[in-house]
Amino acid sequence: MVSNTAGKVIRCKAAVAWEAGKPLVIQEVEVAPPQADEVRIKILFTSLCHTDVYFWEAKGQTPVFPRILGHEAGGIVESVGEGVTDLKPGDHVLPVFTGECKECQHCKSEESNMCDLLRINTDRGVMISDGKSRFSINGKPIYHFVGTSTFSEYTVVHVGCVAKINPAAPLDKVCVLSCGISTGLGATLNVAKPTKGSSVAIFGLGAVGLAAAEGARLAGASRIIGVDLNSKRFTEAKKFGVTEFVNPKDYDKPVQEAIAEMTNGGVDRSVECTGSLSAMISAFECVHDVNFLNPTYHRTLLLRRGLLPVGWGVAVLVGVPNKDDAFKTHPINLLNERTLKGTFFGNYKPRSDLPSVVEMYMNKELELEKFITHEVPFSEINKAFEYMLKGESLRCIIRMPA
Ligand code: NAD
Ligand code: ZN
Repeated sequence: MVSNTAGKVIRCKAAVAWEAGKPLVIQEVEVAPPQADEVRIKILFTSLCHTDVYFWEAKGQTPVFPRILGHEAGGIVESVGEGVTDLKPGDHVLPVFTGECKECQHCKSEESNMCDLLRINTDRGVMISDGKSRFSINGKPIYHFVGTSTFSEYTVVHVGCVAKINPAAPLDKVCVLSCGISTGLGATLNVAKPTKGSSVAIFGLGAVGLAAAEGARLAGASRIIGVDLNSKRFTEAKKFGVTEFVNPKDYDKPVQEAIAEMTNGGVDRSVECTGSLSAMISAFECVHDVNFLNPTYHRTLLLRRGLLPVGWGVAVLVGVPNKDDAFKTHPINLLNERTLKGTFFGNYKPRSDLPSVVEMYMNKELELEKFITHEVPFSEINKAFEYMLKGESLRCIIRMPA
């Protein structure tokens, strides 16, 4: 199937961010045809992730404007550039903000999803192959965002950042798997890896954190402690298997101390999904260490391992930090055998692994509907930003014009 727009410039509607923090403007843009190793996608549904909001506000991030934001979406391939053999027009796809070239040492390693060529780059606003944008208005280029720019009816993406999925999967639901939900789920299942019966603290109960909680539930964790500054999030979080709630504002000591008290020394795993530096530090310091002074810890450890006392707590950072943030903790926290990790996209390789996450939804092992709290037509995209800024939405689906 070859579309009659293949090889031609397409004029369509996009939501353009002209200035930091100013409402997006929906206007006509020109979308150039895909070049070698690129794919042009007709976006049907997109949704808003907090990462879009950070780069739109550009408070702690490099301002790159005018820009077309958006990275969580589902669509259909319209045309492909030279050398693209994996995808064809009509394929149902999810674009992803980080890629998989399948050739570099990271792509060949089972342990990493940080492709040398296509890993996330938030400051680049152009295509990798020629350093140019595929979007323009009256000949003036408009920058891309994380290689996806899904707040447009059509977008051009590197083939390595496109996952081909089951065409039977409803794109208005599985679009949320192209970033937030896969990220949270994978951060727990692939990186934190809690064992059955363990305790897990989740910092930030937005869609990413609640997907991390869902991962903890699937792994059989017995205590899932949700931490958020917004207590309104606690009611919703019950649907995601969160068993206990902690609002740091309710304590006059650091929240990591409160969690250590609740859990006899710390949780087995924590996953931070806030983007706040202080929450990152708390998430690290609230995991269990080895404590030679407390005999109960010794007993627990000896029982569990039968060997030398070792710490086992693992913390995983997921939130996107500001560009000048620096993580500070006393080195003793590491010497005491806590482990600190971080992940983009939950360690999933976009092309190889994402189709099977979509199948988890198709097989009813993973529910997506409960993450989708709002829906707006493309013409009202700015409302999605308001809902997120007010802490009202988990995911707001933005429906593109038919
Ligand atoms: P969200 O705004 O819906 O949720 C964030 C939650 O964190 C909110 O409920 C907020 O009240 C809470 N929070 C903020 N500061 C806090 C603090 N100090 N302590 C406790 N709770 C706090 O956002 P989201 O879309 O769920 O995204 C969460 C984070 O994950 C963002 O930083 C986003 O950029 C990041 N992210 C990372 C990846 C990745 O691959 N690493 C992918 C997607 C999103
Ligand atoms: Zn995202």
